[in-house]
Amino acid sequence: EALNKILDLKGSIRVFCRVRPFISTDRKRCRDPICIRSEKVVVRSSSIKKEFSFDTVFSQETSQDDVFMEVEPILRSALDGNNVCILAYGQTGTGKTFTMEGTNEQPGIVPRALEQIFCLAAQDNSVSYTFSMSMLEVYLGSLRDLLAPKPPHRLHEAVSKCSLNIQSDLNGFVKVEGLTDVDLSDFTQASRWYTKGKRARSTAWTNVNESSSRSHCLARITIRRSGSMDGSKAEVCKLWMVDLGGSERCLKTGATGQTLDEGKAINLSLSALGDVIAALKRHRNHIPYRNSKLTQILKDSLGDGSKVLMLVHISPCEEDVGESTCSLIFAKRVR
Ligand code: ADP
Ligand code: MG
Repeated sequence: EALNKILDLKGSIRVFCRVRPFISTDRKRCRDPICIRSEKVVVRSSSIKKEFSFDTVFSQETSQDDVFMEVEPILRSALDGNNVCILAYGQTGTGKTFTMEGTNEQPGIVPRALEQIFCLAAQDNSVSYTFSMSMLEVYLGSLRDLLAPKPPHRLHEAVSKCSLNIQSDLNGFVKVEGLTDVDLSDFTQASRWYTKGKRARSTAWTNVNESSSRSHCLARITIRRSGSMDGSKAEVCKLWMVDLGGSERCLKTGATGQTLDEGKAINLSLSALGDVIAALKRHRNHIPYRNSKLTQILKDSLGDGSKVLMLVHISPCEEDVGESTCSLIFAKRVR
C-alpha cells in the first residue's frame, strides 16, 4: 500500500506528519492539544479547533522502523532514476534531527537509507549502480561544505569568506561549485563519511544549546545507473535528505542582532521553499527558485519528475500549539 501511495507521486509531493512523544523537559499538561484520527491531525486548545489532513500521520508511538517502512518506497524510486527530496520540517525541538539522523540505538532515515541503497543495488542484476555523497550546511544564506578535506571553517567565517557558489548548467542541472563529493563503496564507508559530516556541522556551533537549529543540513546521494550489459551512458539522479532549520517565527521578545538575523534567514528560506512547492503543485509558469539558496540548490530535484516527501514535525505540548498550527498550515499549503 505504501508503494502504491508513492507510485503515483511523480511530479507531486507527499506530506507526512510526525507528532513527537512527550519528553522529560516538557511542561506538565492538563490535556493533550493534539490528537490523531487516522490520517488527520486535530488541534484543540482554548483558542482553536482545527483539522489537517496528511498522506500519513505518525503518532507519538510510531517507531523509527515504522517511519522508514513508509519512506522506503521513495528510495526505490530514486534507484529507478527519479530525483528525490526528503525534507524534515518543524519547530526546533519537535524531532526533525531524530527522524533524519536518529540516535545510535534508534537510527533515523539517513543511516537506514545509506544501508538500504546498497542492499537494493545488490539485488538488482540488470543495472549497475555507483553512489557518491555530499553534505552541506546552509546558514544565513551561505553554503558550507561539511565533507571538505580541510577542517571546515567556522560558520561565522563561512558567511563572509568561503561560501560556495551555485551554478546551473545548460541542461538546468544544479552544481555547487567546489562541493566535495565522495565515492561510496559500501555502507560502512558511507556511515563513516556521514559521521564526519555530522561532526563538522556540530563543531561549528559555539553554543551547544542553540546547536544546529539555525541552519539547514543537506545530505545528497548521487546515484549513477548504467545497464550492466550494454555500455550505455550512465543516468544520474539525486537523493536529497534535508534536516531543515527550525520553523519557529522569531517573534520571541529579546531576539536581537545575530539571533534575529538567523531567524529571519531561516524563515525566508522556508517560506521560499513553501512558495516553490506551492507553485509547482499549481503548475505555475514561473517557479520562484531564485528567492533562496535552499531552493536554488534543490531546484533540479523539486520540479517535474521529482518526488518530494515533506515530513512535518509538531510538538505535543499545549504551549506550542501556536507554532504547531503554523507548521500544519505550511503543510496544508504544500500538500
Ligand atoms: P529538532 O531537530 O526538530 O530540533 P530533535 O530531533 O533534536 O528536534 O528532538 C528534540 C528532542 O526530542 C531530542 O532529545 C530527541 O531525542 C527527542 N525526540 C524527538 N522525537 C522523538 C521521538 N519520536 N521519540 C523519542 N524521542 C524523540
Ligand atoms: Mg535538529
